Amino acid sequence: MSSTHNLFCALRENFPADLDATAISTAGDKPLAYTWRDLERSTAMLANLLASLDLPAGARIAVQTEKSVEALMLYLAVLRAGFVYLPLNTAYQSSEIAYFIGNAEPSVVVCSGKNFGWVSKIAFQAGTQNVFALNEDRTGSLLQRAAVQSDRHTPAQKTADELAAILYTSGTTGRSKGAMLSHGNLLSNAQTLKEYWGWRSDDVLIHVLPIFHVHGLFVASHGALLAGAKMIWFDRFDPKGVLARLPEATVFMGVPTLYVRLLAEPEFTREACRNMRLFVAGSAPLLIETFNAFRERSGHTILERYGMSETAMLTSNPYAAEDGERRGGTVGFPLPGVELRVSDEAGARCPTGSIGGIEVRGPNVFHGYWRMPEKTKEEFTADGWFKTGDVGKFDERGYVHIVGRSKDLIITGGYNVYPAEVEALLNDMPGVAESAVIGVPHPDFGEGVVAVVVAHAGAAPDAAALVGELKTKIANFKVPKHLFVVSELPRNTMGKVQKNLLREQHKALFGGA
Ligand code: AMP
Repeated sequence: MSSTHNLFCALRENFPADLDATAISTAGDKPLAYTWRDLERSTAMLANLLASLDLPAGARIAVQTEKSVEALMLYLAVLRAGFVYLPLNTAYQSSEIAYFIGNAEPSVVVCSGKNFGWVSKIAFQAGTQNVFALNEDRTGSLLQRAAVQSDRHTPAQKTADELAAILYTSGTTGRSKGAMLSHGNLLSNAQTLKEYWGWRSDDVLIHVLPIFHVHGLFVASHGALLAGAKMIWFDRFDPKGVLARLPEATVFMGVPTLYVRLLAEPEFTREACRNMRLFVAGSAPLLIETFNAFRERSGHTILERYGMSETAMLTSNPYAAEDGERRGGTVGFPLPGVELRVSDEAGARCPTGSIGGIEVRGPNVFHGYWRMPEKTKEEFTADGWFKTGDVGKFDERGYVHIVGRSKDLIITGGYNVYPAEVEALLNDMPGVAESAVIGVPHPDFGEGVVAVVVAHAGAAPDAAALVGELKTKIANFKVPKHLFVVSELPRNTMGKVQKNLLREQHKALFGGA
């Protein structure tokens, strides 16, 4: 182990001895092979480019690009150069990007060439001096500028507590919060998962998840890199493409929606999975129906785990048989080194089987929300545990069950939607008096977003027009799939909208779960 705590160094130490072996093979008609040496050289060139820009210590590098191997290299280069990586969902629109750039004040912004016009305008207005383009097909100013840099670079010295990344999570009040993760947070979690899930150097990971989120960027990529294992790289999930490469693979990670999509393919069989070692699910609850159907069809038992941007992974069903069985409908045990407790509203520990707020502590827990000390303080207990906002329980065998979310979050296709953000936009639209946004069971996405809108007296807003207006303002996954205009919202005696009644009323909208 090197003396620096730079996460990049820990990953690089596990590159195989043969640097000319393939590290990443891309999917698609014209597959490209990237060797470990390519990763080493390209990250050095990109790190040298960043170093040449005279950025201040702790500079944020904000990235909103389509998924590509080069985008992963950029992430690694930011670690290597010692700056702070700030990934942004590709679906974010201009008002969202303006908020993130205004809040994070990045020194560098990297975006897709097709968005360069509007993203660079926002960035320059906010004072960012460097904006580069990076496209899926290896074109764009970022790689052009990196191409003239040296391919040798000494990684920056980092302490375990220095920041490696900021992941923005949506806020319940509509304001996003930047979760600050250190090199130590990310490395400790990656090492724990490497051991717990039995990662090996001869593993082959099918990487289909986006890399602007904890699941694809940290859990999947760090897992393979720390094991020195090969990845088969998909820029987006494509069930038929995955089936074609499955016989070469040993590990797959997906959100529940992806498992539903795989099961919809008749060719997804035991034979197709013959070399697989591990299927991991997370980011949203995996339905027990999916868990059972998957086991029956493939002969494999999905390993469900639970985590979040602020903490990386917290719990996991067991990998090794001697640690216990994988139980559907549960998220398994707290990971080694992670402490997890269930507390009631008064802060007392709940007995086994009782439901309460999930609180956690450990080397993986983040360093707070970027420039929001008050918000950070609110989310920790007096004795230093992070309040996840998830509600759950321990069962008598020590497995953790998640039963709901105290923060009213909707998770659709693995993406988080905070109702308050969508409601605020709707309430500002002409003819709208108020609104409630809920999630109801959806067979494909887990939950589907639904809006219920009350019109101003005398106004008759058009549902399709309101949805169309939302589409221009926010990422598509946040836009309600159905919008109802009603005369009033159900309320309790305290005047609070009873979203549970709305969820009940609309629960069969998408055919149930
Ligand atoms: P994010 O920060 O986007 O990763 O979202 C984190 C939230 O996703 C958690 O607080 C949970 O509410 C939810 N989540 C993640 N994994 C699971 C899981 N396996 N089962 C249920 N909910 C999950």
